[in-house]
Formats: sequence, C-alpha cells, structure tokens
Amino acid sequence: MKTTDAAVGFAKENGERFVEELKALLRIPSISTDPERAADVRRAAEFVAAELRRIGMENVRLIETSTPETVLAPSSGPAQVIPERKGHPLVYADYLHAAPAADGRPATTVLLYGHYDVQPPEPLDEWKSPPFEPMERDGDLFARGAADDKGQVWMHVKALESLFAAGGGRLPVNVRVIVEGEEEVGGEGIAAFVREHPDELRADVALVSDSEMFAPDLPTLCVGLRGMIYTEIEARGARTDLHSGMYGGAAPNPLVALAQIIAQLKDAAGHILIPHFYDRVAAPSDAELKAWKALPFDEEHYRETEVGSTVLTGEAGFSVLERTWARPTLDVHGIAGGFTGAGAKTVIPARAVAKVSIRLVPEMTPAESFALFKAYVEAICPAGITLEVRLIHSGEPIVVSTDNPYVRAATSAMRAVFGKETVFVRGGGSIPIVGDFIRELGTPALLMGFGLPDDNLHAPNEKFHLANFHRGIESIVRFLASVGA
Ligand SMILES: [Zn+2]
Repeated sequence: MKTTDAAVGFAKENGERFVEELKALLRIPSISTDPERAADVRRAAEFVAAELRRIGMENVRLIETSTPETVLAPSSGPAQVIPERKGHPLVYADYLHAAPAADGRPATTVLLYGHYDVQPPEPLDEWKSPPFEPMERDGDLFARGAADDKGQVWMHVKALESLFAAGGGRLPVNVRVIVEGEEEVGGEGIAAFVREHPDELRADVALVSDSEMFAPDLPTLCVGLRGMIYTEIEARGARTDLHSGMYGGAAPNPLVALAQIIAQLKDAAGHILIPHFYDRVAAPSDAELKAWKALPFDEEHYRETEVGSTVLTGEAGFSVLERTWARPTLDVHGIAGGFTGAGAKTVIPARAVAKVSIRLVPEMTPAESFALFKAYVEAICPAGITLEVRLIHSGEPIVVSTDNPYVRAATSAMRAVFGKETVFVRGGGSIPIVGDFIRELGTPALLMGFGLPDDNLHAPNEKFHLANFHRGIESIVRFLASVGA
C-alpha cells in the first residue's frame, strides 16, 4: 500500500514532465502504412525502447518483423508474387524479479501491450494545429497518435517508472512489455511473433490500452471486439484502356461492374445480402443487453456530435450500440480506376479496384466469412469482367469473461481513481492481437483504455484528454500494485 501511494505521488509530481516526453514521441511521424516514413517508424520504436531501458526495464530490444512472401493466384493471367516485406520492429522489455507470493506461489506476470505507429494525418487542411506538432488546448493534447495509441503506451511506461521509483528500483509484479509498430496496417508482424515465440510473451494477464472510456469520467472495461476481414476486389475488362466514344456500348466497364457488385452487397436497410452470412452470429446475452440499455447513451447526441450526419443508418430493430458492437457490418473504403483528374477524359478503364471490409461478431470466423464473401462476389460478377477477390488482412471477433480476479483488480483500481463503478462495454473496432493473446498464449486480456469517444481517432484533430492521461497512469499503477500484492 505504501508503495502504491508513493508511486501515485511520484506520478503526480512528475505529471508535467510525462506530458512533455509524450509530446516528443508525438513529434515523430511514425505512419506505418507509408513506406517513406519507415525511418520515422523505427525512430519511434527506438524512442520507446530507450525510455524503457532508462526507467529500469531489462532485456529491452527491438524485434525485427517481416511479412512472408505470398503467391496470389488470380482468376486469370499469371500468378503474382508479392515478395517478403520488411516490417516495422516490435519493442520488447521485461522485469521478471518480483517476489513470490507469501504462500510461495510464483509472482504474477502482466503483459502490457500498445502500439507506437499511427494513421496517416490527411486531410491536413482540417487540422487546427499541425498533426505532428502537439499542442495543448483546453486540457486536451492535440496530435496524431495522442490517444491512438502513443498517449496510452506512455501511460504504461510512466506507470512502470512510477512503480520503479517508489519501489527503489523494483516492481511489485513481473512485467513484460510489447509495443508494436504495425497495428494500423494489420499487425502481421506481432501475430507471427506471438505464434512462433509464445514463451517470450508468457503471462497471466494482458493489459491492453488501445480503447476508450464509454463517457467522460466513466471507468470502462471493453470486454468484446468485432473482428474483420479487409478485402480488395479487382475487376478487369478490356485488354487496355479504351475510348468511350469508339467502344462505349460494346466494351465492359470495370468501374460500372464494381458499382453493380457493391450495390448488391447490402440492402438499403443495412442488411448484408451474402447468403448464410448471419448463420453463426451470436446474440448478446439478455444481461448484456440490459446493461447496455442502462449506459448513458443518447442516440441523437451521438448522431450530431460524433457522426455529424442527418440520420443514422443501419439495421432496423437494433439499437446503435447493438449495431456497432454486436452486428456484422460492411463498408466500402475506396474505389480506384479510370480518370479522376480535373476536366474530362473519355476513358473506359481496363481495370478498377474497390476496397471493402466487413466487421465480424462472435461466432463468425474470418476464413469462413471471406469464403462466403468471395463466392458471392464471383457469382454476381457482370459479364465480360474477370475478378480477383483478395483478403488483405483479418482479425477474429472476441468476447472476454468478466469473472476473473484481474477484472476485479482493474475495477477496484479505477474505483479508487474515478470514484465510480466500472461499466463493461464492447468495441466496434478490431484489435486482432487481443485474439492472438487469448488463443496463442491462453492469456486473458483486459482492455482498459482511457480515450474518449470524441478523440477523433484516425481523423483530423485527434486528441487525448490530459486528465485521462494522468488518471490512466494512476489506474495502471494501482492495478499493477494490486495484482502483485
Ligand atoms: Zn490503436
């Protein structure tokens, strides 16, 4: 208890310094999807590693990753080989010297997970201050990555620093830290590492801070996440681009074909039209649905402040929370092909590509969902068009049991900080690594995040509420101390 109080005191005294350090990390544009930023991504990894080393963590190292060579067999034409690509490094650190429990049981080991890579900042002209020049306004820290996820990674690091300081260079619990640099691009590197080296990440519980609180001041544990499949549909028509005056009326048009295919993927009410797609969908329990109804959620406020649209769309008969947490959904992210410059060019493109993703819910599997999707898209392919339907990445949906001592330690830690009971929610997004921790390591995962619903993740003006940064550090300090006690 004395150590906990001392660590909380240390975190409070050093809070301003912690924020300044976070700003330095936020200044590094570690955009994982942009090959030109690879050196910056590595610089962010080294920044995190250097600090873990400085505060007293051991075995700190960067682990190189790569994605394996893949051979794609399209429906026509020669097989395409995508060569092995060097990935962004993982940052690993551990401290495994915690004293065993009074009854002789070995000390508990906690695995801390976060990611240091960020989404691209575009559109730049919508940012009120530049995305990689962190700026404080009204208690919020604005920068790309502030909440997703550098700010939350830094909470972990600073909670560890505070505990080291209070414990005279010792931690009350065994800790492994793994921070990845490819979360925003599918996380294949860490998935392979978890599969190939499960012993190096062995832990009793994983603490993942890459999610948000349900509402300001409301401590939240996320106990379910949707999975996803991210796909590309490539359509080919004529051998080369053609003039629409000379060939329009005779030549197939891949852009029109994609539009026709996409229009048949779901109906106007948001129901996905792929046969058997809903066969495995598991409904939330009555208790869960009842708890969701009691959450402070106002659909109209959500529509206006978060979505900013004239109406909310989606399946009739399901609340917004059910639609975004417990129902599969399908979205189109981009369609490329033909002419998109200024003015007019009368081209019938030879080729066009659409990016389509589907969010999955418990009992659906990525492999089966992709097979159903691919078979349906190929079945509705218009005449004269050849298709290649590719799976870019995928993640399994998960639900976490709330009945374990780590959940109780987390809720009591947050009760001490927020003075409120924790609510259990699900998330609509995907954190594929959580499924890997559960499946490959057999490690239950706690999703304790301190972002807010209006933090503008993946959007212009991303922010992190600084009060939550500090409360997050204190919550993690208390959680680690109590798990170690
Ligand atoms: Zn994230």
